[in-house]
Amino acid sequence: MNEGIRYKDHLHLVYHDHGLGKRNSMRTMTESFRYVLMLILASAMLFISPTHAAQPEHPVLGDLDAKAASEVTPRLVIHGGAGVERAGLSAEDASQVREKLEAALLAGHAQLKQGKPAMEAVSAAITVLEDAPQFNAGRGAVFTHEGRNELDSSVMDGASGKAGAVAGVRRVKNPILLARKVMESSRHVMMIGTGAETFAEEQGIELVDPTYFRTEKRWDALQKILKLEAAAQEQNQTLPELPGKAYFGTVGALALDVQGHLAAGTSTGGMTNKRYGRVGDAPIIGAGTWADARCAVSGTGWGEFYIRAAAAHDICARVAYAGQSLQQAADMVINQLIPAAGGDGGAIALGVDGSMAFPFNTEGMYRGWIGIDGVPHVAIFADEALVLP
Ligand code: ASP
Repeated sequence: MNEGIRYKDHLHLVYHDHGLGKRNSMRTMTESFRYVLMLILASAMLFISPTHAAQPEHPVLGDLDAKAASEVTPRLVIHGGAGVERAGLSAEDASQVREKLEAALLAGHAQLKQGKPAMEAVSAAITVLEDAPQFNAGRGAVFTHEGRNELDSSVMDGASGKAGAVAGVRRVKNPILLARKVMESSRHVMMIGTGAETFAEEQGIELVDPTYFRTEKRWDALQKILKLEAAAQEQNQTLPELPGKAYFGTVGALALDVQGHLAAGTSTGGMTNKRYGRVGDAPIIGAGTWADARCAVSGTGWGEFYIRAAAAHDICARVAYAGQSLQQAADMVINQLIPAAGGDGGAIALGVDGSMAFPFNTEGMYRGWIGIDGVPHVAIFADEALVLP
């Protein structure tokens, strides 16, 4: 930083010396020629100034490596879905959820503490949540209309701008690991269905029997909806309201590592009773997941609205282009634009300065964060304060 200031000052002096020199020797020049000369000098200064050199080539995807390691506050932020309904959650369920959220935070923290890249922390945390039946991701995913589990997931690395995603996979134990493989070991960004599973097999990603994902709770939720649907059809009506949220328990994680690099990931079973190969926002880069040099976001909510709003990208674009704070940008997209369009849900956002935002407009969102001190902080309900730094 000081180096930069000194260099800038030096340029400032050169500029004035130069200007004076020119003025002495070119007294006879016309005013307009001097004006053009000044303009050229000014643009040259802008071009070679260290501030300019530190900016990424692409304002969103670029790398802000110039951030001194000492200024970085490594951090991990997670969510476990915004479809929380207080009435449907027993005290025992809630305490199991809190336990799993803490376990996920600690798993990610272990990576950050060792100085590992943000992407390692994101996949470690999400793997814990995918393995826990309490969440709608991996084991415990919701069922499609046909009674299957079809999983979607994505990751994005903020430093490189690389991304990977999978949709509609039925045998991949941890879809987040496959999304990461797509990013790291293929030329593609997104793979779907059986093709994605063939790639998983080739890459040594663990495959399981589809029954692995089944939990009675999610099965019962589907049966309830199917009954209501059948009754509505008999009376020639369309299904009025779903019993409870059709989306529930999607998981996401964002990390900021010691290098000052951000990463994001999201994993879900989608929405109960989904049909026709429906895919939500979770595996869509820019809708459910985004990370760049300054900002990372993972969403959870009514996916169709998140896709139409390019929600995750819009939050970070507001930070990059409109100068909004992370909190303002996240609130605007999640609590203003999406509800105005008829959708609902939540998101988590993490800035390169360590700032965090947890906007949502439902009864609750499973959420938490952990700093370098290794103390996990979690909350579930809307009226429950999450301890912040
Ligand atoms: N956004 C997910 C989807 O629409 C669901 C969720 O967040 O729970 O597939």
